[in-house]
Amino acid sequence: MKNLLNHIEEITLMGPGPSCVDTSVLNAMATPTLGHLDPFFIQIMDSIKERLQLLLHTENKLTIPVSGTGSAGMETCFVNLIEKGDPVLVLINGVFGMRMQDVATRLGAAVDTLEFEWGTPVTVAAVREKLAEKSYKIVAVVHAETSTGVKNPVPDIGQLLKGSNTLFLVDAVTSFGGMEIRMDDWGIDVLYSGTQKCLSCPPGLAPVSFSDRAVAAVKARKTKVPNWYLDLTMIINYWEGATRAYHHTAPVNMLYGLYQALQLILEEGETSVCQRHLDNHLRLVDGLKALGIDMLVAPDCRLPMLNSVHIPENAEDAKVRSALLREHKIEIGAGLGPLAGKIWRIGLMGHTARPENVDRLLAALKTVL
Ligand SMILES: *Cc1c(COP(=O)(O)O)cnc(C)c1O
Repeated sequence: MKNLLNHIEEITLMGPGPSCVDTSVLNAMATPTLGHLDPFFIQIMDSIKERLQLLLHTENKLTIPVSGTGSAGMETCFVNLIEKGDPVLVLINGVFGMRMQDVATRLGAAVDTLEFEWGTPVTVAAVREKLAEKSYKIVAVVHAETSTGVKNPVPDIGQLLKGSNTLFLVDAVTSFGGMEIRMDDWGIDVLYSGTQKCLSCPPGLAPVSFSDRAVAAVKARKTKVPNWYLDLTMIINYWEGATRAYHHTAPVNMLYGLYQALQLILEEGETSVCQRHLDNHLRLVDGLKALGIDMLVAPDCRLPMLNSVHIPENAEDAKVRSALLREHKIEIGAGLGPLAGKIWRIGLMGHTARPENVDRLLAALKTVL
């Protein structure tokens, strides 16, 4: 029987994720599988926690990768904190803010939203006004809105919430590994991410971090966490303490991959990694400008790792993307929701953010257009 795996071509992943994966990460995932309770594997788990704490600039003890993609991280954060009727404010300016609203609503939270035009950021003034009217158990926002390429003002929103009883919940799926995140300084209580964006690991894990205050809120629940698989009160007993208790089998080789991906970031240095994202973003913006292609988002709130560009008037959206993929082995992303057919999303995430990739894409776009 034909084995399809022998026919996979290497594609340069320049869409909204997954991103290119370094060979050392793929090799790490191909090392021998250990038992999930093997003492040596537990050392690896402890080191992953430590690396995540370091890169998120947090002392939160509960900082672990959840088994599942970024959306499992989102679900973990909400399902552990929400009980029926809890007031939650979700700030929405794209697909992932909408997904947060959906998740929180399904859990029975009393969800209020503030919505902002797609392609523009959440404004602090609007949040301040809303908070003056009503107090919330959770305020949730996406740091890097991958559907539009907008950076939201997370430190400023954190500042607004300081001193209140409200938990600040942040989606850092696309920002983590490409932009600075100072969880403790910014007053973030709850954060989740994913491995296949700027961490440049294959999809499959969702780092999450809960502050002591957030852990106390989970422990103070009157009802059980309504999802067995993502219940942190049980998962903690596998990730913390002297005796590690089995909850579910950890995706051992996936965790090797994350370990190595974090190793690469620490070796290069967090500051250099962020600078590399920024430099390549500027290189791309310049090159696109020369081709007559404009950016969707205003310069002061553009994401370096996700570039939304207006599709040129004479170009056919799907045809161009398909030519890039077939003829040039480059994947870029389409627009979503109201931006479908209007923009392309060019990712420069993690290992993808290199000048040679930017130049190859620009040359390919020029040919195709
Ligand atoms: C990709 C993404 C998610 C969802 O992650 P999955 O790995 O696709 O489940 C959530 N939030 C943001 C901002 C994302 O970019």
